[in-house]
Amino acid sequence: MRLHEYQSKQLFAKQGVPIPRGEVAETPAQVRAIAEKLGGAVAVKSQVLVGGRGKAGGIRLAKSPEEAEQLAAGIFELEINGLPVRKILVDEAAEISTEIYLGVTNDRTQGSPVLIASAEGGVEIEEVARTHPDKIARAWVDPLIGLRDYQARNLAAAMELPRQHWSEFSQMARGLFDTYWNSDATLAEINPLVITRQDQLLALDGKIVIDDNALYRHPELEQLRDLDEEAPSEREARGLGLSYVKLEGNIGCMVNGAGLAMATMDVIKGLGGEPANFLDIGGGAAAEKVAAAIQIILADPEVNSMMFNIFGGITRCDEVARGILMGLEQVPREVYLVTRLVGTNEELGRKILADAKMDTASSLVEAAEMVIEAAKMGVTE
Ligand code: GDP
Ligand code: MN
Repeated sequence: MRLHEYQSKQLFAKQGVPIPRGEVAETPAQVRAIAEKLGGAVAVKSQVLVGGRGKAGGIRLAKSPEEAEQLAAGIFELEINGLPVRKILVDEAAEISTEIYLGVTNDRTQGSPVLIASAEGGVEIEEVARTHPDKIARAWVDPLIGLRDYQARNLAAAMELPRQHWSEFSQMARGLFDTYWNSDATLAEINPLVITRQDQLLALDGKIVIDDNALYRHPELEQLRDLDEEAPSEREARGLGLSYVKLEGNIGCMVNGAGLAMATMDVIKGLGGEPANFLDIGGGAAAEKVAAAIQIILADPEVNSMMFNIFGGITRCDEVARGILMGLEQVPREVYLVTRLVGTNEELGRKILADAKMDTASSLVEAAEMVIEAAKMGVTE
C-alpha cells in the first residue's frame, strides 16, 4: 500500500525528521486559506499516488495566496498518469540550495534493509542508478542493531555533504530508517531532501510503501488507505481474496496458486506473448469467485485474449468450468479464451467447456501457443 506524500511526511515528522509546515486542501478556496495562514510563498502540490507529478504540472510554486488559489484550480483539473487530483498539499515554500536523495528499501540479495543516498537528488533514483551508478552510496543496516551513526556519516561523506550538516543528516537518516522499520515498509524515501539557503535540512517530498502482508499489524496505517486512488480492479480483487496485479500486456491470465501463476507467465513470455496480469484465484475457489475473477481481468481494456491454467487439487475443475461460463455470461466483452484443466474432475470440467464450444488445451505450452496466436491477431470484440 502506497501512502501519499503528506501522509509519509507526517510519519517522518513523528520520528524527528524536519518537514515544511503545510496542510492538505480539497478545494482552491481551501488552498488559498492555508496559504494565507502560512504566509509568504507556498508550494502547491497535487497528492496522487504516482511519480512524476512535477513533470505533469502537478507541482507549482506560488508567491501569494491568490496565485496559490489560481494554480490549485488548474491542478484540480489535471489528470496525472490517469489519476484525477482530489487533494492538494500546501507547504511553506523552501528556498533550495541543494537537493539530495535518501531512501531505505529491502535488499533481497543481502537479506537486509539498505539505506541509499545520492547527491543527485530530485530526479528518480532509478535514473541516477542508470546514468551515474558511482553517485549512489549504500549502507546495509542490521535490523537488530539499527542504523548506526557512523553509517549515516559515511553516506554523508560519500555525498561530499559539508561537515556542518552531518549530525542533522544522521538524525534524518535515523528517523527515516525508524519510520521504515516501525511501519513494515518496503520503501521509505525522501526525494528531495534539501539543504535550504538558510542551511537547514528538510524532507521536501516523501514516499512510503507499506508491505500489504504486514498491514494487519498496523490498523492505524490501514486507515490511511485512499480508496479513491486505487485501481478499482485491484480494490475489488482484494475484497474477494484474489491476488491480482495488473501488468502491461494483452493476455489475461487466471491461475490457481502463485507458483503456477508465475510459471504460466514465464511460459507465455518465453513463447513471445505478454501477460496482462498476475491473478491467483487461490485454492478451492468456487464458481462465483472464478466468475468475479473473469470480470476483473476483462475490465482491463488492454486484454484481448485470456488463458486459464488450473491445476485441480482442492480446486475442482468442473466447478472452475461452471465459473468460467457464469463469468462470461456476465461480461459484455467477447475475447478469445483457452482453458487448460488438469486434476480433480478434469474430464467433467472439459466436457462442460466443450459443450459450450470453448477451446481447451491439454498442456500448458499448447494453451500458451493458442492464446499467443489469438493475441497476435488482435482478436477483440
Ligand atoms: P515529484 O515530482 O512527484 O517527485 O515531486 P517533488 O515533491 O519531489 O517535487 C519536485 C521538485 O519540485 C523538487 O525536486 C523541487 O525541485 C521542486 N520543489 C518542490 N517543493 C518545492 C519548494 O517548496 N520550493 C522549491 N523551490 N522547489 C520545490
Ligand atoms: Mn520527489
